[in-house]
Amino acid sequence: MGTAWILIFLTTFVGMELVAWALHKYVMHGVLWPVHEDHHDPNHASRFQKNDGFAFFFFFPSFFSLLYGALAPAPLWQAFGYGIMAYGASYFLVHEVLIHRRLKFLKSNNFYFDALVGAHKKHHAVQTKEGASHFGMLWVSGSALRAAFDRRRARGIENRADRHRSPATDQSR
Ligand SMILES: [Zn+2]
Ligand SMILES: [Zn+2]
Repeated sequence: MGTAWILIFLTTFVGMELVAWALHKYVMHGVLWPVHEDHHDPNHASRFQKNDGFAFFFFFPSFFSLLYGALAPAPLWQAFGYGIMAYGASYFLVHEVLIHRRLKFLKSNNFYFDALVGAHKKHHAVQTKEGASHFGMLWVSGSALRAAFDRRRARGIENRADRHRSPATDQSR
């Protein structure tokens, strides 16, 4: 694993966020809205969504880059393939688990994840093709960071009020 390998891996990972953002904003909320629509439907009942198909779309470039990288052999193609794969894995953990809780095995109180979940909830507040905001997955905008900061501060004030009401703490003062 040389420097070039790591650079290509990281560039692919970051590039995937840009690709996913553009795909979400211009294609999923554009011509392919009929496929993305059920992900925005709060009453969607079945376990799987048509929208899940988009994840498989990224399986192909990753799989064939890894295959070619192994056969050629061309390690830099593997770096590219692993970059897509790593993004896919974080997409699964962040979007499906942390945000939508489709599997319930991960929890986080981390400020960044808090901001990220808040931003995606904002995206889902709009249930139509037009008018949505916050199309990124790992990218968190300044306004989403500020909103997370305000939420935390409000919660902190609430906590202090709770403690103040509790007689046990009042005695210790
Ligand atoms: Zn959307
Ligand atoms: Zn979502």
